[in-house]
Amino acid sequence: MKKRLAIYPGTFDPITLGHLDIIERAVSVFDEVVVSVGRNIGKQPLFSVEERIEMIEKTTAHLSNVRVTYFDGLIVEYAKKLNAVAMIRGLRAMSDFEFEFQMALVNRTLYPDLVQVFLMPHEAYTHLNSTIVREVSSFGGDISAFVTPYVADVLHKKFYRSSEK
Ligand code: ADP
Repeated sequence: MKKRLAIYPGTFDPITLGHLDIIERAVSVFDEVVVSVGRNIGKQPLFSVEERIEMIEKTTAHLSNVRVTYFDGLIVEYAKKLNAVAMIRGLRAMSDFEFEFQMALVNRTLYPDLVQVFLMPHEAYTHLNSTIVREVSSFGGDISAFVTPYVADVLHKKFYRSSEK
């Protein structure tokens, strides 16, 4: 039988426990989940693509059916290339809905065969995003409830080192 592959695109700057929650739900319904770091023209990321990929790989190391990649360009074209049957997105609150709804309709027009799946994280993560994590960490706050110890360490080093310059 054909492998049912889903793609989960995002900026992941850095990956949080909210993203991980979505990935863990996705792997329970698909054969393989490709977490893909994309370039977002509206965002200037703190971490390089390589750093973000490494953090995702470390955070998902316990999941055998997760692959991490990078894509540039149209996500639907990349999904087609991978033969993905679905695209995963996380929905935290109503505030995500408007944007996600718009994107979903555009993507559906571009690639009607790609099913878009929206997953809700545990309520502990509905307030969480990468921006908050970067901000709290930049002020030396405790981010252990939001990211894995490895990611917390990478963030700490990033701010610690850059403040030494
Ligand atoms: P974007 O794609 O807007 O740059 P991210 O890379 O942070 O944002 O997120 C990728 C996907 O993960 C999006 O669908 C986003 O809604 C979802 N997501 C981000 N943070 C969480 C969270 N705490 N819980 C559930 N889903 C999340």
